[in-house]
Amino acid sequence: MSGKPKLRSIWVFHLNTGSCNGCDIEIIDVLTPFYDVERFGIKLVGSPRHAHALLVSGPLTRQAYYGAKETIKAMPPEPRVIVAIGTCTCSGGIFYNGYPVYRRPESGREGSEYPRRGGIAELIADLRDEGEKVGPVIYIPGCPPRPEEIIYGIAQLVGLVEKRLSYQEYSDEFVRFRLPEGPVEERIRLTLRERLRHLVGYLDREKILEDFMSLVKEAEKNENPREELARLVKDYAAKCGDVRLGFCMMLLEREYWRVKDALDAGKEFVYWL
Ligand code: SF4
Repeated sequence: MSGKPKLRSIWVFHLNTGSCNGCDIEIIDVLTPFYDVERFGIKLVGSPRHAHALLVSGPLTRQAYYGAKETIKAMPPEPRVIVAIGTCTCSGGIFYNGYPVYRRPESGREGSEYPRRGGIAELIADLRDEGEKVGPVIYIPGCPPRPEEIIYGIAQLVGLVEKRLSYQEYSDEFVRFRLPEGPVEERIRLTLRERLRHLVGYLDREKILEDFMSLVKEAEKNENPREELARLVKDYAAKCGDVRLGFCMMLLEREYWRVKDALDAGKEFVYWL
């Protein structure tokens, strides 16, 4: 938590910015009579205009972005505490780099090589750029966090317990990933497999990769493998009739040449984990 508000009793508003509902159930849980956070002076209100604090859950989808922004702006400017509940709200969680997750255009990070980090920090940064006062922010990670963890976080907020954990800023550094030494083909396969993880969702990634590698094998027999692979991928996309698969294949093709060229040139390449 950055800064410490002097609050003994707070009114909170609950906002879902794309959560799977797991965190929301735990939030409701702490408000019901069993855990009863009202005994600490924490009261759920029906409008952000009356709220000191916002309990946010979810990875911040693009759909939820504008609504969430207006909600925070509707809160009184002081103290505007944000309580980020769940790993998704803290950092994007399992939705990290997912297609529906918001990415700040102001950050200058564009293109499919850069991740959509998600999480409420993206929106807070936008609001602060606009001159809005937001924060302090308290992060309660967990998927979902247990009610006891949420209560502990809120107890810190209202000054009932001292913070024991150290504060750590999220860093936007690339994760530099060096594959273990091994046959070049295997290194490429592992990299593509990792890339596919961000793309395929419910589809069978091993099968897609197997299909792609067999196209590569076929293309390598040709004098001009680059053109041949492009042709084979196009044929595959047309035959399979599933736009998602066609899209995956095209991205794999691009990634394949990026990695192969880097390896052939003896360069270390940067990859997202
Ligand atoms: S942190 Fe876990 S439970 Fe909470 S919204 Fe994300 S996936 Fe769902």
